Amino acid sequence: MSDFFTHLEGSWDGTRLPKGTLCNTHENRPIVARYDLAAVKRSVTRDEMARRPGGMWKYRELLPLALSTEPISLGEAQSPLLPCPRLGKVFGLERLFIKDESILPTGSFKSRGMTVAISMAKELGVTKIALPTAGNAGGAAAAYAARAGIECHVFMPRDTPVVNRREALLYGARVTLVDGLIHDCGKIVRENAARKGWFDFSTLKEPYRLEGKKTMGIELAEQCGWSLPDVILYPTGGGTGLVGMAKAFAELTELGWLEGSKRPRFYACQSEGCAPIVRAFEKGDRLAQTWENAKTSASGLRVPAAVGDFLMLDAIRASKGEAVAAPEASIPFWMQKAASLEGIPLCPETAVCLSVLQNLIQSGSIRQDEKVIVFNTGAFQKYLECLLEPVS
Ligand SMILES: *Cc1c(COP(=O)(O)O)cnc(C)c1O
Repeated sequence: MSDFFTHLEGSWDGTRLPKGTLCNTHENRPIVARYDLAAVKRSVTRDEMARRPGGMWKYRELLPLALSTEPISLGEAQSPLLPCPRLGKVFGLERLFIKDESILPTGSFKSRGMTVAISMAKELGVTKIALPTAGNAGGAAAAYAARAGIECHVFMPRDTPVVNRREALLYGARVTLVDGLIHDCGKIVRENAARKGWFDFSTLKEPYRLEGKKTMGIELAEQCGWSLPDVILYPTGGGTGLVGMAKAFAELTELGWLEGSKRPRFYACQSEGCAPIVRAFEKGDRLAQTWENAKTSASGLRVPAAVGDFLMLDAIRASKGEAVAAPEASIPFWMQKAASLEGIPLCPETAVCLSVLQNLIQSGSIRQDEKVIVFNTGAFQKYLECLLEPVS
């Protein structure tokens, strides 16, 4: 394990857990990795780290893998932070940026989580993994598992986008189509894991996918000159992106690596067809209830129940942000706008964020002089079904 990764911690009650053993959850809630940040600070400066070539693995001291171990990697590059002046004008924003994660291996930010989690699984001797997916996680897990020589079992809803089904098969995963949604798939994994010898790779049910997603936040901080933006809009499903960025900003704060005291407000964006986090946020609850009959073309957001719900809701509230839903019907409009005005094709999940942004500008929650970052979490090419719909 990395020289700086000290232990694991139950996120529900703070119980200290040893590193170096395979684990899933504690009290049925996520487990997170903790580091000796004082030692990191003595060992490397933020500028030395930033100057290293390459993408997310340059933040090695803040990742759990032993420094001497070669990661299981597909060459994850730094994703660009693209200024969007023409799209910004639509909202009256002078500083709108899209952080374009679609360029990452397998076409989504899911690869950040998988390169770290598969590297750690390999290190810990795992030979078989299984996971439920709403789409992109299955493809990313299958690709990195193939690269590591690990057997991969993917469970996905029968109506998952065709590209997600085919990519997982292409990477050699055993794919099972399930009549249900991601939480039904998760139940199958949970009930069969012990008997079949699978390590459960579900979102936030192993500690290291989160560490990979955390690098989105570190990278964004570096690209912004270590001075964080006012607002981040993030399409929210299982929550590792949001929770990972919050963890990144907390660790960078503890390291003293951030300029100023400004921390971004997180806006968790969901579709009105599946908005359990929005509903819990509005009710003032810390835990979210399962969303019935979830339906959205933003397949990555079709997550009716999330084990990390309280981590998301805590992070949103602590940042003074909000969880907001947008109408399903607004998705094609915003995909068309971003692509035609900026040449940036968005996944439907991110189109939801632009619809939310419009509402929040109109309501005054986001001011036009603020610096706003929207994450494009996936490549539009993976959504054939959505693209075949007429774009208004
Ligand atoms: C998984 C996924 C999301 C949701 O991300 P979480 O971090 O799980 O909340 C959003 N967009 C795309 C394209 C995804 O694949």
